[in-house]
Amino acid sequence: MTELYGAIEAGGTKFAVAVGYKNGEILKRGTIKTTTPEDTMAQVFDFFDQYQDDIISFGIGSFGPIGVNEKLENYGYITDTPKVAWQNYNFIGDMKVHYDVPMLWTTDVNVAAYGEHILGAGQNFDNVFYTTIGTGVGSGVITRGEVYNGRAHPETGHLMMRRHPEDNFEGTCPFHKDCLEGLACGPAIEARWGEKAYDLNENHKAWEFEAYYLAQAALDFTLTFSPDIMIFGGGVSKQEHLMDMIRDEFAKMMNGYITLPDLKDYIVPVSLGDDAGIIGSLLLAEKVAR
Ligand code: ADP
Ligand code: ZN
Repeated sequence: MTELYGAIEAGGTKFAVAVGYKNGEILKRGTIKTTTPEDTMAQVFDFFDQYQDDIISFGIGSFGPIGVNEKLENYGYITDTPKVAWQNYNFIGDMKVHYDVPMLWTTDVNVAAYGEHILGAGQNFDNVFYTTIGTGVGSGVITRGEVYNGRAHPETGHLMMRRHPEDNFEGTCPFHKDCLEGLACGPAIEARWGEKAYDLNENHKAWEFEAYYLAQAALDFTLTFSPDIMIFGGGVSKQEHLMDMIRDEFAKMMNGYITLPDLKDYIVPVSLGDDAGIIGSLLLAEKVAR
């Protein structure tokens, strides 16, 4: 019998599923549209049923908020998500009915953080802080090689921000308006400037504002968690010129308070690209199988 690991990166628009071997090596992968739990999960089960006899564990990273604390009743659930069909969905409960194997359950950003920690930009470090700037903003944290969770998981997208003095945009967050996500996610950039983020040229004021907010975030993460490396992923981070702008702002804001590695090695883009999440899920399945 070949031992296989199962991996699910459950995103708000699509699920990535895969089976594979040790070291994040993928045997077979698929993509499933996120609609309702009934419909989407039926396809998830169809995919994994083909390998049912060989799968010895699962690594699952989900959009959220989700229950991650095993001492709380909402463990394994997608909780109060704006996606109505998925509210209070017992993800792990449903998985366990089909597959009676160990499962590592965490957020979509934590699996990406773990992928980067083992095989990507964070592979030489024990403490990795990964942040995605896309449709939303969120962070996954690896401390001493383990996925970090507290009572719940971090929600860094909703940190309060000091505003750029020239920024009058009210912000897009339905809860706080001008939190980090409300000011800096892809849709916020697009709402502020009336253009797609990827159409704004490198000299556009948008990037000055963006770097100002992401540098503040990087500062707060550094002061709170003291990671070895700060990795940025997600669609907006594909703007390569942004990294140097964030480093410059960060250096100004930190003002020498903490001695850090060269910022070129400390604030970096993802290296596994869009595969960080599914590879991280596979690696976490391997970890939980032991
Ligand atoms: P999601 O967060 O939904 O998983 P992404 O990480 O791709 O997906 O984020 C989508 C957001 O990122 C959109 O607002 C999009 O406009 C923005 N985006 C995607 N590619 C780029 C790019 N190359 N430059 C700037 N913004 C981008
Ligand atoms: Zn918010």
